[in-house]
Parts: sequence; structure tokens; C-alpha cells
Amino acid sequence: MSTFTIDPKLRSWIPYTDDTDFPIQNLPLGIFSVGDGSGRVGSVIGDQIIDLSCLPGLTEATGIPKSVLTKDTLNDLIALGRPVARSLRKYLAEVFSAQNQNRSSFVHCLLPIDQVKLHMPVHCGDYTDFYSSREHATNVGIMFRDPANALLPNWLHIPVGYHGRASSIVVSGTPIHRPSGQIVPKEGEAPVFAKSKQLDFELEMAFVLGKENKLGEPIPIEQTEDYIHGLLAFNDWSARDIQKWEYVPLGPFLGKNFGSTCSPWLVDLDALQPFRTKGPEQDPKPLDYLQQAGTHHYDIRLEVFLNGSRICRSNMKYLYWSMNQQLAHHTVNGCNMRVGDICASGTISGPDPDSYGSMLELAWKGTKPIRLSDGSTRVFLQDGDRLEIRAYAEGPGYRIGFGPCEGEILG
Ligand code: MN
Repeated sequence: MSTFTIDPKLRSWIPYTDDTDFPIQNLPLGIFSVGDGSGRVGSVIGDQIIDLSCLPGLTEATGIPKSVLTKDTLNDLIALGRPVARSLRKYLAEVFSAQNQNRSSFVHCLLPIDQVKLHMPVHCGDYTDFYSSREHATNVGIMFRDPANALLPNWLHIPVGYHGRASSIVVSGTPIHRPSGQIVPKEGEAPVFAKSKQLDFELEMAFVLGKENKLGEPIPIEQTEDYIHGLLAFNDWSARDIQKWEYVPLGPFLGKNFGSTCSPWLVDLDALQPFRTKGPEQDPKPLDYLQQAGTHHYDIRLEVFLNGSRICRSNMKYLYWSMNQQLAHHTVNGCNMRVGDICASGTISGPDPDSYGSMLELAWKGTKPIRLSDGSTRVFLQDGDRLEIRAYAEGPGYRIGFGPCEGEILG
């Protein structure tokens, strides 16, 4: 990897403040459109969208054909592989570096971010959601099963997950309709058909596949990073009352598949390298195919705002299972991953009660209402509520952010 693109001292001729999500070290990828125009590939520095298809010399410098940059998904671009992604990052860092004297050739490729519409960054064929926060799994186990045996016996051996629904993943800003379904009003009673009264969020991060493996060929854990293009911020909206009635014996279904929200920006794993950190100690030792040396977790700060009030502060480093372990496990039976597939982490809860990544846990099954700055309280989401996840890694004088990951609840 070229360390030039992530040098904290690198500055851009595009002005921005220290607290922007998008300094020149970030250079995430996304899909944008202007007016009624079709989607195309962009990046962002400060509050300026960079129209990649407009930049002179990009194809010559990187080998990326222009046709890939005028598509309405990132799939074909990220499928070109990591060396190409690296040459693109290097090209963008050079063009927009404060040292570049030839700004006039590029300035016409910039658009203020408030003049564009941002779209789903990838076409996602398959979506998997893991359950990799020990604190979250423990909290749920305490609330719904047995405080003495909160974790199920498999949890410390397997990165537990389920196959979710790809079609209902939407980009930040898309409203979420409160789902209806079968709900049991009181334990032991017959189910009724009604609107969910226990609509919740789940604070998650997700990785996006940039490379495929063949059916029947597992990805060894040492190679998993070659397959992960980058990360998204992610909200796995959940209807707890629907989920509670349906999840035994086969797991989440209609309590989850009515909508999931992702950030518009796909942050390259290279931009996150300075934020690698050690994960929690794993005891018992995982089986051989899940063992790895080195640091494989990421120090990414996570915040959740409900109608502007911050209700949670967590961190991606709290996850027990790393993305490498998740991907090695996902494919160990030969399951084939495809470019654009999304794997979400599971709710990321930390050790402190204000770091819990869902309302179920923050309000502890409805027993501790959450107070918002307007004086109102919540145990679950109400119609009209606006929930936003913010994710960013903080370096010296800059942060690598994902942009907002938010949605409003419609009745
Ligand atoms: Mn989830």
C-alpha cells in the first residue's frame, strides 16, 4: 500500500475543516446523480463531490475505463481489484493535493454535495448479518433467556450469522415504513395482525466484497483481506415484537427484511489501515481455520442520534469476531461470495450501558426509558422519529468518516 494517500500531513487544495468526514486521506467511493441524470461514480473531499468520469488523465493513470465510471453501481469498478483501487486512490490524492499547481484542469469536475443525490453504492446480490458483539449477544441472552447462561454454547466457537434480504437494503435518507406482521400481544395469547409497536435500530458496520471466490473453494483466513474492498455504516432496522414470535426455530425473517440502511460512502480498507487495533482476547481458542495473527479489528467510533439527541456511543473495536474470521467462516463450506455482497457485523454494543447499540438494550426491554433533549422519552421508535448512525475513525487532525446513515420512520 502507498502510505502517501494516508499520510496525516497530506493537505488538499479543496478547503475543509478538521471535523469533516471526508479529508483527502479518505477518498471513499459512492454513486451520485444530478437532477434527472443517471447515476455515476463519485468520491468526495470536504463538501465537494468529485465526478470521476470527468477527470482528465484518470484512465491513462489507472487503466480504469470510463464506461465503468458512468455506471449506477460501484460493482464493476471495485471488481477491477485492489491494485487498480490503489492506483485510483494515488491518482486522486495527487490531483487534489495542495501541491498540485494545475488545479484549473480539475476544478470543473467538482460539485457541491448539496446539489447531488446519493444512491445505493453497490448492487448487493447477497446480504449476511452476523451477531459478533459479545456484549450484545450477552445482553439479549440475559433479557430473553437465562442470565446465568446468557451466551448460547456455540457463540464463542462460531461467528454466528444469518442470511438476510438484499432487496430491501436502502441508502441513507430513505424513509422506513413501520412494518405490520404477526404479533403476540401477551405471552401465551394467540397472535394478531398489527403494526409493530417495538420498532428498533441496530448499530452495525458492514464490509463489501470486492472479489469473488469460486463455489467449493473456501477463502483461507490469511487471504480474507484481499476480498474485502471496504466498509459501510449500517443500520439493521428490527421489529422486536415480530421477531420474537417468528425467530424460533429458523431465525430472523419478517422482523428484519422490511429495510436496512447503509451509508452512501464505501470507505476503502486502505484508508482505515492507521486505525487497526487488537480485538478482545478469544477464549476458548477458535478452531484452526479461524485463527489469525496480528491486529484485525478497527478503532472506528460509532454514535447514534435520535431526533438530534445522542443516545449511544460505541466502537467497532468491541466486536469479538473480526471481519476476517466472519469471511473465513462464511466460506469454509465452499460458499461463494460475489462482488457487491454485503456482510454486516451485528449490533455493536460495548461494555457501558450508553454504548449499547439498540433501543432494546439502551432502554433494557422497556424498563429504562431513553430521555431525549426535548424532554420526551422512548423505549422504541415512534412514527416521525429520525435516527442517524455516525461512524468515523479519528487520526491526528483528521477523521475518516462514512457520512450520515439515517432514516425517518413513517407510520
Ligand atoms: Mn443485526
